[in-house]
Amino acid sequence: MNLGGLIARAALLKEQMKKQPCKRCGLHYDPIEMKQCPHCSHLDEPGLAKLLEQKENEIQSNKSLGFWFFIGAIVLLFIMIISA
Ligand SMILES: [Zn+2]
Repeated sequence: MNLGGLIARAALLKEQMKKQPCKRCGLHYDPIEMKQCPHCSHLDEPGLAKLLEQKENEIQSNKSLGFWFFIGAIVLLFIMIISA
């Protein structure tokens, strides 16, 4: 990982620490800046269910993305070992 990526990650982490998870939808928002959750305060119950479903799909696709990154890292490591 390069330095720029590391700084970006640290900034993201700092940003997330300021935020709190919404009791209704579980997504993070800044309660100091926003009185209401920007993700779900405008949604009714069916809307919220749809949002949570989308979130679940996102988590699933992130998981599979993480898996392929993991495979990629192993392949890369393998190439480095055999070419050394
Ligand atoms: Zn919410």
